[in-house]
Amino acid sequence: MIEAIVVGAGFSGAVIARHLAVNKNKKVLLLDKRNHIAGNMYDKVDENGIIVQQYGPHIFHTNNERVYNYIKQFGTWEKYFLECMVFMNGKYTNSPFNFKTIDDYYEKDKAELLKERISKYYNGLEKATIVEMLNCEDEIIRGYAKFLFDNDYSLYTAKQWGISPSEIDISVLKRVPVLFSYNTGYFDDLYQCMPVGGFTNVIEDIINHPNIEIKLNTNVKDYLEFDLKDSVIKRDGTVLKVPVVYTGALDELSDYKFGLLPYRSLYFEYKTENIKSYQKAPVVAYPQAKSFTRITEYNKLPKQESIKTTIAVEYPIQYNLGGASEPYYPIITEDNQNKYNKYKSLFDKIDNIFICGRLADYKYYNMDQVINRALEVCDSLDLWFSK
Ligand code: FAD
Repeated sequence: MIEAIVVGAGFSGAVIARHLAVNKNKKVLLLDKRNHIAGNMYDKVDENGIIVQQYGPHIFHTNNERVYNYIKQFGTWEKYFLECMVFMNGKYTNSPFNFKTIDDYYEKDKAELLKERISKYYNGLEKATIVEMLNCEDEIIRGYAKFLFDNDYSLYTAKQWGISPSEIDISVLKRVPVLFSYNTGYFDDLYQCMPVGGFTNVIEDIINHPNIEIKLNTNVKDYLEFDLKDSVIKRDGTVLKVPVVYTGALDELSDYKFGLLPYRSLYFEYKTENIKSYQKAPVVAYPQAKSFTRITEYNKLPKQESIKTTIAVEYPIQYNLGGASEPYYPIITEDNQNKYNKYKSLFDKIDNIFICGRLADYKYYNMDQVINRALEVCDSLDLWFSK
């Protein structure tokens, strides 16, 4: 007999299903509407023998000790420090921008002067945001910031959100800082790693337990009825007493009663190139390209030997209901947050539903944040069972 239902076999669903199966010894049914487990972390080996990620490039990074200790129990992990680059004005340079960027774009004397001015002005500070630098009192530093803004930040952000560069609100500006040293490395978290063999293996390991039954290709809406009038969940007309953890979108679950929760979506064009290496880094941003933002080269993420190379060209697109687009980045505005809160209040009235994950919480979570959140929901489930 099923004692708990978890909807969504991504990181959130997997962590919670395991907790219920192992720590609470419950029989868990794990549903997913897709034909695979692992949610947006799904990856697979392609025809070139390279592990590719279907929903965009992912690297695990965290400062959260609890999350790191949790995740390293599953699969095998190796240290991985992501190096990113930007292709700007016909040249590659480091991302985040650093002192090498100054050397790449300024004549020697001017480059030396600018680096000196920055070191003096910021006096030991390691980095700043582009917005801080655009407001700097030093004219030469401001000039550098303007160069980066005009050739990268504004163009990239405009494409990312489908707006014109003149409409950019600085709150959505690409968040990568500018470094005041020759340091490289995209993230600065304490733990940065990738799973050997891919993320799907890790999720498989988390949910591999005799108490967990997995049912793919199953939309929960075809399996359960969410009766929002009486605030109950039913299966074949009978009110369910077991907990239901839901990691999908709340608007979808309530038939878009208050309208669509807006997202920005992405389209990935996968290509095989008959060369060993296509670009200088695993992830390169192309701010000046017409319609795409980034290219990921998967034989570098992590390093894999291959004769050919697989690249994924990333195009930001509009998210449309009923189309092929996936909801990727929630568009967090006050209106959208209010709309989300209205949906949430409908589900708060149901005693045995637990909402968790990037879609259900309508938040941009990194993997470590999603795992942390899932562990918190496990605590709430423990309380519920003890009632
Ligand atoms: P998901 O992985 O989306 O899982 C939800 C699951 O629920 C899906 O499998 C879905 O099919 C299923 N589902 C939904 N509705 C239903 C339904 N009605 N019935 C049945 N099943 C349903 N994080 C990092 O830490 N590092 C990175 O480098 C990084 N890169 C990213 C790059 C991109 C382009 C994006 C968009 C995100 C990135 N993230 C990264 C964030 C990361 O993808 C998320 O934190 C993580 O995937 C969230 O896991 P989740 O389980 O909450 O959601």
